[in-house]
Amino acid sequence: MRILGSSELCEDVQKKDLCVDCGACAGLCPYFVSHKGKIARLFPCTLPQGRCHAFCPKTEIDLNHVSETIVGKSYDGSPLGHMRAIWKTRAGRLMQGKGAFQNGGTASSLLVAAMASGLIDAAALTRRKGLIPEPFLATSTDQILSCAGSKYMASPTLASVHEYSREKGQKLAVVGTPCQMTALGLIRMNPLGREDFHDPVALSMGLFCTWALDTRRLIRLIENRVNLQDIQSMDVPPPPSQVMTIRTCDQNLAIPLDEIRTAIPAGCSICPDMTAEFTDLSVGALEGDPSWNTLIVRTEKGESLVEEAVRQGYLERDAMRPEHLEHLRKGASAKKKRAFIMARDKHLLNTDPAKGPSALIIKEDLVKKLLGEEGSCLH
Ligand SMILES: Cc1cc2nc3c(=O)[nH]c(=O)nc-3n(C[C@H](O)[C@H](O)[C@H](O)COP(=O)(O)OP(=O)(O)OC[C@H]3O[C@@H](n4cnc5c(N)ncnc54)[C@H](O)[C@@H]3O)c2cc1C
Ligand code: SF4
Ligand code: SF4
Repeated sequence: MRILGSSELCEDVQKKDLCVDCGACAGLCPYFVSHKGKIARLFPCTLPQGRCHAFCPKTEIDLNHVSETIVGKSYDGSPLGHMRAIWKTRAGRLMQGKGAFQNGGTASSLLVAAMASGLIDAAALTRRKGLIPEPFLATSTDQILSCAGSKYMASPTLASVHEYSREKGQKLAVVGTPCQMTALGLIRMNPLGREDFHDPVALSMGLFCTWALDTRRLIRLIENRVNLQDIQSMDVPPPPSQVMTIRTCDQNLAIPLDEIRTAIPAGCSICPDMTAEFTDLSVGALEGDPSWNTLIVRTEKGESLVEEAVRQGYLERDAMRPEHLEHLRKGASAKKKRAFIMARDKHLLNTDPAKGPSALIIKEDLVKKLLGEEGSCLH
């Protein structure tokens, strides 16, 4: 993977609308900061290589390299990534009535269980001020619960990973979308080989994602229809609803998805990962019953946490129906295919690392296998 400086980051990612505001480049130096849910570059920096560029999930990702380093297995393009198990789960008896969960409360319940067991002492989460998503370092059960609920905006969540790292902690959980989890993987790979590096992460938990919205564009879309400070929750109900709902204390706003999609950054259109493949655990809604979650267990560490959380009553678990698993596979596979085709058409898909630069590096035979006939005309 080519590592360049902040000027190239601005040219190749931010100016092309590929930035998904993950926060991996923020708070490392005085120049890039997270401000009101967005990343701002205050001054240009002249270093030829920077961690901002190295950690960005949209500069140049070698999917195989990330997979081998983080998951210990090669990238094979399977729709849901490598996994040990997949379950239907929700908050267990110890967590009943504890939080305003988005779906079954699996994410928050597992974090609470991880903190109770001493596996983690903090969690890099996302809270919301009005409509603005903010990174937040939770260090107690109450703080974990205060972050429950999805904010469907691209959020600079990872900025607080750097904040935690500076204190030399090593028991951090990080919850985020697949692009944030890819960036987290890059952070943990120490791509610039810094001697002062230590891995702060004890648990990585991804959220399923098909898109996130640019906060400023969303604000422009809805500020005349709702008081932003009064927003209590947001949701994207499963098809056939075709709306995003925003709830305040006295209003239920339903915005057509066609309108909402105008606020999606271009970076999402080249994202091949729906289920956060480079993590210990991944959580999404359960098809057909959003009061439950789908939970993918990817690593031994994730598995131990889930087993213990079930045993102690933090989590309830059941088998997932085969037709739901098949549907999830199809959705994830379609997202991959769309992303590789879009990246290829934008000249952002590279099958030969020597050629670059481009946003995604993937082996030629694999992309041909994934795209079938459409993969025969790679650039
Ligand atoms: C932008 C976005 C798009 C999503 N798209 C899908 C989808 O297409 N299909 C699907 O099945 N699920 C999707 N999800 C996941 C889903 O909304 C739930 O987060 C997931 O099912 C976990 O539910 P829960 O009840 O266990 O979460 P909770 O226990 O309520 O916990 C939610 C956690 O999400 C974190 N979080 C909230 N917003 C953000 C954000 N913007 N960035 C990073 N972390 C955040 C919070 O810190 C909290 O820890 C998406 C989530 C987000 C944030
Ligand atoms: S995608 Fe993340 S790392 Fe890349 S420029 Fe945007 S905020 Fe920074
Ligand atoms: S679609 Fe991909 S790039 Fe966009 S927010 Fe979701 S994980 Fe990030």
